Amino acid sequence: MTFSLFGLAVSPGIAIGRAHLVSHATREVSQYRVPDQDVESEIVRLDKAFAEVRAEFKSVREEATAPGTPAEAEAFVDLHLMFLADPLLAEEPKNLIRERRCNAEWALVQQMELLVAQFDEMEDAYLRERRQDIVQVVERILKVLLDMPRKLGRSTRADMGDDDVIVVAHDLSPADTLQFKSLGISGFVTDLGGGTSHTAIVARSLAIPAVVGMHNARSLIQDDDLLILDGARGVLIVDPDARVLDEYRLKKSRRELERNKLKRLKTTRSITLDGAECSLQANIELPQDVHHAKSVDAAGVGLFRTEFLFMNRDDLPDEDEQFEAYRSVAKAMGGKPVTIRTLDIGADKTARALRGAERMESTSALGLRAIRYCLTEPQIFLAQLRAILRASHYGRIRLLIPMLAQAVEIDQTLAMITQAKNQLREARVRFDEGIEIGGMIEIPAAALALGPFLKRLDFLALGTNDLIQYTLAVDRTDGAVSHLYDPLHPAVLRLIAQTIRTADRAGMPVSVCGEMAGDRAMTRLLIGMGLRQFSMHASQVLEVKQQLLNCDAGQLKAKVTRLLRLDDPAGIRERLEKINAD
Ligand code: PEP
Ligand code: MG
Repeated sequence: MTFSLFGLAVSPGIAIGRAHLVSHATREVSQYRVPDQDVESEIVRLDKAFAEVRAEFKSVREEATAPGTPAEAEAFVDLHLMFLADPLLAEEPKNLIRERRCNAEWALVQQMELLVAQFDEMEDAYLRERRQDIVQVVERILKVLLDMPRKLGRSTRADMGDDDVIVVAHDLSPADTLQFKSLGISGFVTDLGGGTSHTAIVARSLAIPAVVGMHNARSLIQDDDLLILDGARGVLIVDPDARVLDEYRLKKSRRELERNKLKRLKTTRSITLDGAECSLQANIELPQDVHHAKSVDAAGVGLFRTEFLFMNRDDLPDEDEQFEAYRSVAKAMGGKPVTIRTLDIGADKTARALRGAERMESTSALGLRAIRYCLTEPQIFLAQLRAILRASHYGRIRLLIPMLAQAVEIDQTLAMITQAKNQLREARVRFDEGIEIGGMIEIPAAALALGPFLKRLDFLALGTNDLIQYTLAVDRTDGAVSHLYDPLHPAVLRLIAQTIRTADRAGMPVSVCGEMAGDRAMTRLLIGMGLRQFSMHASQVLEVKQQLLNCDAGQLKAKVTRLLRLDDPAGIRERLEKINAD
């Protein structure tokens, strides 16, 4: 039966393919009473699941002892094997089955919750963090009990044959989404999520259609259902009839045709009708993304979100590994600027190998994130700074610091950079002595009090994604409040315009590298505010170029100045539509 579901359109494009459901086993557990005569067989079922996972871990452990595998990997598997053998996990659920007649899954989840609560109480941060290991072990046992696939792997793609795969999940982390790159996933939908969550950002950077905040897609869709995903309209059509399918196939090929036409603009100069030269750069998450940046002839890398190097792994990338990653991007860009942002971990971006990862995961976007975290972990921060500095010898690298708000944080950061430079000088390692250091303006306090930034730094990058979140007090990852997340709120626009104006007057280069920069509906607005440096997903560069080739910066300045005097968002939206239609 055909039906449609609606959500937040976060990444445009059309995908037509088969559903692949991704689950968190703990959410799938049904709770029922086991009849007396089945109690013993329920216990046997649980024992068998433990045995299967134990065998699985043992084979993983063998792989982990292979040369070149980090020692942490072995220790990590040993820890999981230890939990698996612990009577608190292996025996207690059996008592729950015997005494309360709970089914095996339910018994296991109850015991897990009890243990997790005990871990949460622990004084020692390291031990507290082990709660996540228990959850992971239990997830694995549950998946065996529920006969669910253990993970989305290469086999998933192979199992689906020639059909495109659309992932349907309750929620996805940015790290999960990042793996879609190598798995050839055509699109995804999630029940949760907001429009500028990092999960959505990764989807846009992969240029795969995505819709989030669908509420109950995960429960209404079955594996292998035929789906049409319209990422621009935020629609998912389940089991479409032949007529709708044809219509969307046509739309899809038209879109591909249009995108191909845009390729003609690749080598065209980014200049407005009245001669204002603009710089359109690309945002990247991983070194290999640099190919996309080059494929559209981006003027540089305006934002390298280095935290993605730290995700999906159980160890940390050491200084040398980071150095190679940064150097490869600098070399690939052949002298064009590469802006490397230091680790912006925390809130929705987590990396399990980082010390205190658990602590960060539980914090909100107001917590120990980005530079705040780095300043509490000098060894990790210094290693990254040295890696970036070393790479600066091989290209034109600029260093960007996220989430600064206070003058003292700028000072502490600059002191750390000086320390990293001194360490390299002592070791006679070459780096660019004149490396430019910039700060992200993404907290309203920074935008309102730019003085320390202008005095101490070399450039600014406006992070509109966070600036909107923090100005409007709207969690960018929370679908429940996404209707309030408004880039056109007058307060947001004034902060952006004021930052650009103040930076211009001080002769300080300023760019926008948040999602607004890649939204062609915002191009004229930003040009009118005086912005000339944009950084966006590579897939958006040519669309934005097409916009700016058709605009007159002088005329836009006057129009946008008038728009900025408006107070109500509806009026602003209407005025912008007019400006865009002119
Ligand atoms: C931003 O906040 O606009 C930004 C570019 O950084 P991120 O999206 O990684 O937080
Ligand atoms: Mg940000």
